[in-house]
Amino acid sequence: MHSRYVERDAEAMIARYAGEGVAGDLALRVYTTRLLGQDPKLVLHGGGNTSLKTRLTDLLGEERQVLCVKGSGFDMATIEPSGFAAVRLAALQALRARESLADRDLVRIERANLIDPTGPNPSVEVLLHAFLPAKFVDHTHANAVLSLVDQAGGVATAAEVFGERMGIVPYVRPGFELAKAAAETFDKNPDVEGLVLEKHGIFTFGATAREAYERMVAMVSLAEARLQRGRKALVKVSLPPTLAPLPSLAPIIRGACSLADEDHEGAFLRQILDFRTSPAILDFVGGAEIARYSQEGVVTPDYAIRTKTWPLVLDAPAAGDLAVFRDHARIAAAAFVARYCDYFARNSARIGRDKPMLDPLPRVVLVPGLGLFGLGRSKRDACIAADLAENAAEVILDAEAIGRFQSIPEADMFDMEYWPLEQAKLGAAAVPPLAGQVAVVTGAGGAIGAATAAAFARAGAEVALLDVNESAAAERSAAIGGAALAVKCDVTDAASVQAAFDQVVEAFGGVDIAVSNAGAAWQGRIGEVDEAVLRQSFELNFYGHQRVAQAAVKVMLAQGTGGCLLFNVSKQAVNPGPDFGPYGLPKAATLLLVRQYALEYGADGIRANAVNADRIRSGLLTDDFVKTRAKARGVSEKDYMSGNLLAREVTAEDVAQAFLHQALQLKTTADVTTVDGGNIAAALR
Ligand code: ZN
Repeated sequence: MHSRYVERDAEAMIARYAGEGVAGDLALRVYTTRLLGQDPKLVLHGGGNTSLKTRLTDLLGEERQVLCVKGSGFDMATIEPSGFAAVRLAALQALRARESLADRDLVRIERANLIDPTGPNPSVEVLLHAFLPAKFVDHTHANAVLSLVDQAGGVATAAEVFGERMGIVPYVRPGFELAKAAAETFDKNPDVEGLVLEKHGIFTFGATAREAYERMVAMVSLAEARLQRGRKALVKVSLPPTLAPLPSLAPIIRGACSLADEDHEGAFLRQILDFRTSPAILDFVGGAEIARYSQEGVVTPDYAIRTKTWPLVLDAPAAGDLAVFRDHARIAAAAFVARYCDYFARNSARIGRDKPMLDPLPRVVLVPGLGLFGLGRSKRDACIAADLAENAAEVILDAEAIGRFQSIPEADMFDMEYWPLEQAKLGAAAVPPLAGQVAVVTGAGGAIGAATAAAFARAGAEVALLDVNESAAAERSAAIGGAALAVKCDVTDAASVQAAFDQVVEAFGGVDIAVSNAGAAWQGRIGEVDEAVLRQSFELNFYGHQRVAQAAVKVMLAQGTGGCLLFNVSKQAVNPGPDFGPYGLPKAATLLLVRQYALEYGADGIRANAVNADRIRSGLLTDDFVKTRAKARGVSEKDYMSGNLLAREVTAEDVAQAFLHQALQLKTTADVTTVDGGNIAAALR
């Protein structure tokens, strides 16, 4: 790797933060921390940390020697000065004299010695930084270094590559013991430029930010050069001649990697999938020895909280053999869960832990011939797991090229996975009700569809906004933000519906909720209307719903975790209006369609419900239409819009909340909810 340090950029950083009262050395600490953090081959997602020893004035106006260390969980790529915690250095250094130190005590001592009590919690590796004397200390989990030291003979290889320039610390779990071991290694040879931590990563130090950073670059380059020598070729497995396509596989994998909620009948712990493939990933998942090297464990300890200790490995899925693959995936996932439960019980007993188990589902799934999946309760978490898995694949391939990959022992992985200071990085936010679910909304470019997609996203679902008008869907999905997906879909075209569902499945792994909302109104007196008009309306207002429901059910059955079909019907289905036959007739058929799905798929846990809304400003009921109608009836627009029993105008948001309610009621199917302010002629009997 090459140094990306540019003197001019460093000076600009100093100037930029000087205005905020940030000292030059902290500005430079921010600058090189970002340089390290922006390179995914060095650190990913909150991994790694850096520090600076400097003097700061405390709240009482006294100048103190402090350690400014990266806050726990902060991302180095985007860190700001406020992302560093300033702790009185003397208090931290005094801890080196202790024999042992409980986590709880460490956290309390840190917080008691923060210069600013509102600052973040320091990195879990704070003491390692404190016990080393250099002004600037940098720590990464560089891939090239990991490939060297994640080996049985890793310590010897590192000694040979780095010579006297680096101290080498045999594996110790991060925390107080590692900090002491690292300081002892340093004391034996204070001339070293850094430390290599077996099966963990690398530290470099310097008197300046540039020196510490460029030593990191130099050491990682030495490791990279070593990895280029004496490489042996990877032996690949043979694959079936044709593999099943991703959209047919992802729902099967997603269903296998979910769990029925024992406390709530009909509920599941579901995950979102993030799929990756590349030549390197295909090499990794297609290696003849994947069963060995993929099950060794993590490439660096802090991956354990995101990827668990091992991935689930499936067989290559032959085309045309989906039933076989489905059985295989279910058995393999169940074996993974059983193995995880054993691992938890065994290790909890070892340390006398009595706290509950995390969910036992895989976070990474490897499929030879296809690629890898990251899994998580949100798309964001799934992407993080996939990033780490992709990186681990590269580390392991390089380790295997020069030797044999080896991770830390199971007990150490467990201690890391269940270390409260590590789990704290994930945060303890309440889980929203639709977390892990995927909702597809058609007609999402319009007011009701957009409000419904937004309501489902707020409830924790990943949402896909489908509309025949792609830019309208894109605009609505941008307003929701996050991972919301805009997809072009013409529900009057079966191929377009299938393509849209494939796109959603590729993005999220499946579908749990389909809100069939797309529709449009046609008018005409029924005895005189052109048959073509009627057929056109049926295409959209009946067959459109049928195509969407059929595509959704196919995915839901592959997942095997139930699902929810929601239909926007209309009060017209029950209470026809004059000249609205072309609209009301297909809507009436759709009302029966809801019941047909409820009847035929209830045994599969798939629910079908409808909302009968009326008189809502939207694409169907344009402002011009409202104006004309109100005028014809001799009432104000406001009175026209609230012409119902409650005399209240009904909004798109009201309809969205009704759909959300139906999605959450796991024991409600074949239901029709009216959202019309009260229309007695449209009341169901
Ligand atoms: Zn580390």
